[in-house]
Amino acid sequence: MAKIIADLNACQGYANCVVAADDVFDIDDDGKVVLLKIEVPENDRARVEEAARSCPVSALKVVDG
Ligand code: SF4
Repeated sequence: MAKIIADLNACQGYANCVVAADDVFDIDDDGKVVLLKIEVPENDRARVEEAARSCPVSALKVVDG
């Protein structure tokens, strides 16, 4: 199972990740990403990695858990 790591210092609230996968990412009132889930099943990993790559400031990483 892979895990998502978000760098809240880097996140600028562009919401590309939310557009790409709104069941995984949300934005809070401070304009920072919120992870709706931390763990990513292998069969969903490619989709979540693509959403992470859409972040313009590379604030999201999918790592082996
Ligand atoms: S795409 Fe990146 S900068 Fe934008 S909300 Fe998501 S994590 Fe933050």
